[in-house]
Amino acid sequence: MTERTSVAIVGAGPAGLLLAHLLDIAGIDSIVIDQRSREEIETTIRAGILEQGTVEVLTDTGASDRVRTVGQRHDGIELRFDGEGHRIDFAATVGRGVWLYPQHEVLKDLIAARLAAGQDLRLGVTADSVEGVDTDRPRVIATGSDGERIEIEADVVVGADGSRSVVRRALGGSSSGHFREYPFAWFGVLCEAPPSSEELIYSSSPEGFALISQRSATVQRMYFQCDPEEDPERFSERQLWDILQARVPGTTLKEGHIFQRDVLRFRSFVAHELRRGRAVLVGDAAHTVPPTGAKGMNLAVADVVLLAEALRALVREKGERLLDAYPERALSRIWKAQHFSWWMTSMLHTSPEATDFDRRRQVGELRSVVESEHGRAYLAEAYTGWPLAR
Ligand SMILES: Cc1cc2nc3c(=O)[nH]c(=O)nc-3n(C[C@H](O)[C@H](O)[C@H](O)COP(=O)(O)OP(=O)(O)OC[C@H]3O[C@@H](n4cnc5c(N)ncnc54)[C@H](O)[C@@H]3O)c2cc1C
Repeated sequence: MTERTSVAIVGAGPAGLLLAHLLDIAGIDSIVIDQRSREEIETTIRAGILEQGTVEVLTDTGASDRVRTVGQRHDGIELRFDGEGHRIDFAATVGRGVWLYPQHEVLKDLIAARLAAGQDLRLGVTADSVEGVDTDRPRVIATGSDGERIEIEADVVVGADGSRSVVRRALGGSSSGHFREYPFAWFGVLCEAPPSSEELIYSSSPEGFALISQRSATVQRMYFQCDPEEDPERFSERQLWDILQARVPGTTLKEGHIFQRDVLRFRSFVAHELRRGRAVLVGDAAHTVPPTGAKGMNLAVADVVLLAEALRALVREKGERLLDAYPERALSRIWKAQHFSWWMTSMLHTSPEATDFDRRRQVGELRSVVESEHGRAYLAEAYTGWPLAR
């Protein structure tokens, strides 16, 4: 049996759930499917920094109050190199800030909003393919948790299904896009300890990069640069603390039990096509960035804000102009965020092939940022996020 909706959304990550929420506010029905369970979605640790514009979208549309009550506003970060710390003061430089509020908390809020609105959310349902994208009745073919076949016909199919997108295949090739891989990854740990610093520290040291981040009064998130092939189980907790400590000279880390560890590979990717006919991509399905600039989830939100406007025009006024314009409008921000993420990554990490010249040049680059009003302002503007098209 074929079901019918206005917008079929594959993926209940930040992109898919926020899009469904914005469409619901506009009175447009949608069906969201995701292969994962609610528990898995609400407990998987991923991104943690929200741009100011992302927070405004979540609060202005009633998706989350908790981001302002539970989340913590940060008005700056520290860049540390050559034995010294340099604060980039966001509030003083660009009058904006960021919020520390984990991605899975955003997802809890969005799922709660979806269910409270009585909207259709189907978990444990896997999209297998998308058909008819060149017609005005595209279809998602999916398999339910009991193996049953599900077919959803819509005006538009949205691929919000992450970096291994099935919907992207329907647009022309699963690996079709601009791609860059990096010779390092992040070793991420979650630990039970008080914060070691009030703000995030991005530290470039002769031992390699480390990021000291916070989650709450009792749980902290930290990362250090590692080989992409690193085995997360290879190190004892003692060794992990020693590695981290060696990379943030000048700060004594507050240690505690490390209860989660993972290796996060670095990739930059932008799909060649963001739209074909009545199928459109948003979020990680359309692009991936290395995490150094904290752009992944925020870029997904920026895509969704543009696409929601285009879908409102399509479904309500039968106008395709904004849908036609979506790829170009989204790509303008996507490439700026790609550049910022690549720049932060290359400026702060030590490449395995780096020569003495490369390391000294890198310190020169960092100095040219922190000692320049304009350098600090660019970093602050990009990190806190360019204004959203609202
Ligand atoms: C392990 C990891 C750690 C990360 N850490 C950071 C970080 O520290 N900082 C940072 O800024 N960014 C980080 N990111 C990036 C950030 O989390 C993503 O940019 C963000 O999740 C993008 O949201 P999305 O909704 O586009 O995609 P996703 O969050 O990936 O959501 C896609 C959803 O689609 C579902 N799905 C996929 N295929 C199918 C299918 N065939 N059928 C049905 N459902 C499907 C998935 O189950 C998933 O729920 C991390 C990403 C990963 C993978």
